[in-house]
Order: sequence, then structure tokens, then C-alpha cells
Amino acid sequence: MSEFEQKVLKLLEEINNKLDKVLKAEPISVSSAPVASAAPSPAASTVKPSAIVDKQEEEARMEEKPPVEGRRVCPECGGTAFATHEDKGQVLHQMGGVKIYAKKYVCKQCGYTF
Ligand SMILES: [Zn+2]
Repeated sequence: MSEFEQKVLKLLEEINNKLDKVLKAEPISVSSAPVASAAPSPAASTVKPSAIVDKQEEEARMEEKPPVEGRRVCPECGGTAFATHEDKGQVLHQMGGVKIYAKKYVCKQCGYTF
């Protein structure tokens, strides 16, 4: 190893040490940054309305696909009485020549089909 290389290495080590010191000092200003950004964290209370929206969307989804078939609600008029038809254009699956069709629901009140 040449004398020049050793000098460079020593310089690099010094720079490394200085960087270490800077980096060690840095966390103070870095950790103060989250505190500054934590100031608008009361605005994080705006998370709550979005949570309510999430819940509303969840409820909407529950209405779309109610677990109990009898509780299906017409998205048009809110009626709960439906006639069911097999949608021959929509085969869910086929087994041994027996086709299982998707079901269509026709609202008995307004005729809305879905
Ligand atoms: Zn309806």
C-alpha cells in the first residue's frame, strides 16, 4: 500500500468519523421534525370521519349482499319482495350436463332486475 493510499484511507476514516458525529447529532433535529409534523396530528382526528365512511361503505356492501336471502333490499325502491329467475345467459358452473345458472332478482314492487 502506497503512502498516498494510506493518507487517503486516513482521510476517509476522518470523514467517516465526522459523518458519524453529524449523524449522531442529526437525530435531535430529525426527531424534532416528527414533533413539528405531529402538530397537525390533531387533524388526524379527520381519520374518524373516514372511518365512519368506511363503516357506511361496509353497511352499503352488507345491503348489496345480505347474508340472508330474504333480507335482500331493492336498490331502487327499497322493497324486499323479489321474484327469482335463472339467468340462462350466466352459467355459474356445469356438472354432468346439469347447468347451474346465476339467479336474477326482480323487484315485485318496481320491477328492478339485478
Ligand atoms: Zn324495487
